[in-house]
Amino acid sequence: MKIHEYQAAALFKAYGVRVPEGRAVAAPAEAEAAARALGDGPFVIKAQVHSGGRGKAGGVKFAQTPAEAARRAEEILGMTLVTKQTGPQGRVVCKALVSRAVQIAREYYLSLTVDGARERVVMIASSAGGMEIEETAREAPEKICTLEIDPYLGLTGYQAREMGGRLGLSRAEIQQFIPLCKNLYRLFVEKDCSLVEINPLVVDGAGDLVAADAKINFDDNALFRHPDIAELRDENEEEPRETEAAKYDLNYIGLDGDIGCMVNGAGLAMATMDIIQAFGGSPANFLDVGGSATAEKVAGAFSILLADRKVRCIFINIFGGIMRCDIIAEGVVAAARNLAVKAPLVVRLEGTNAEAGKRILSQSGLNIVAAADMADGAEKACRLAKEAGA
Ligand code: ADP
Ligand code: MG
Repeated sequence: MKIHEYQAAALFKAYGVRVPEGRAVAAPAEAEAAARALGDGPFVIKAQVHSGGRGKAGGVKFAQTPAEAARRAEEILGMTLVTKQTGPQGRVVCKALVSRAVQIAREYYLSLTVDGARERVVMIASSAGGMEIEETAREAPEKICTLEIDPYLGLTGYQAREMGGRLGLSRAEIQQFIPLCKNLYRLFVEKDCSLVEINPLVVDGAGDLVAADAKINFDDNALFRHPDIAELRDENEEEPRETEAAKYDLNYIGLDGDIGCMVNGAGLAMATMDIIQAFGGSPANFLDVGGSATAEKVAGAFSILLADRKVRCIFINIFGGIMRCDIIAEGVVAAARNLAVKAPLVVRLEGTNAEAGKRILSQSGLNIVAAADMADGAEKACRLAKEAGA
């Protein structure tokens, strides 16, 4: 799960990481009041969307006075911000962060993330921070420093000190950098983050280290232990079908193809997408209904698949282990009737009570094509999708 910069900045502050004072606003008048409350300018007004690259896209603007802050907020609020990360459709900006502009002496990059290959949390830092970090990573990778963190020892003072040295920080700056790194690591672990990123980490006019941007992603699988974090979710920023799927506890990822997939188990779901591709088709989604799908879940899954207008055919590929095929079949029939499904359904059922399940499907009178096995199902689904598209 992603959160907004203003929310991440509040968490930074709670963990002792210095951030510019600021407030999130939803209207120009609020921006003016927020700037006035901050005191003397200059101010910075920043679009709050779940995307980086806002600076280059016109989503970060400076203002000298509260009145100007209101004008800049008016420009930003309601705009569709198209960044490198949003895709061409962009994101509508509903909130802006008004904060004190810090005087930038130097900009650094600093982040913590999980490196799957090393099975460790890693800290990544660079003295070439700011809006060009992607270019730096591509063209001058030697400017990116990485250190591995031992999960037992945690981030040690000497590691942080060494990193500060590699970044070329002064002794006084390193004295601030060490607790900053330790606080960030504590935040990362305690809140089950998958990414904590400060870009830029600024050395300001007074020589202090300030996080001028704040980005945090959380591990969805750990959200159950952080109700305070789960509350920060902004559904406006999420793919609506994925939000809907989360309500039914389904793992759904929208894709570009025309064959809707309903599968139980993540491994089988991936294999299903592969086999569709192998037969020349293209999946419209990844959908894992889980090992304990109920009729309600199946109905929920159907409604999500059908909401995707690209879908021309639905391939249901179920292996009944714990889950019984007859229960699934009943769920499929009930949902297909309720939702008046018109697209052809190709169904492959295997495992516990498969015969009973197949009987229920064949007697339902619905437009259901039975598949003998997975390959047969994929082949039929690809053919039907092609015919429907012709
Ligand atoms: P993004 O990463 O989405 O482009 P940032 O928050 O990093 O957005 O802002 C872009 C740039 O704007 C930063 O690299 C920094 O130079 C400048 N900036 C952002 N916040 C401040 C601030 N509070 N004071 C001064 N400059 C800022
Ligand atoms: Mg940034």
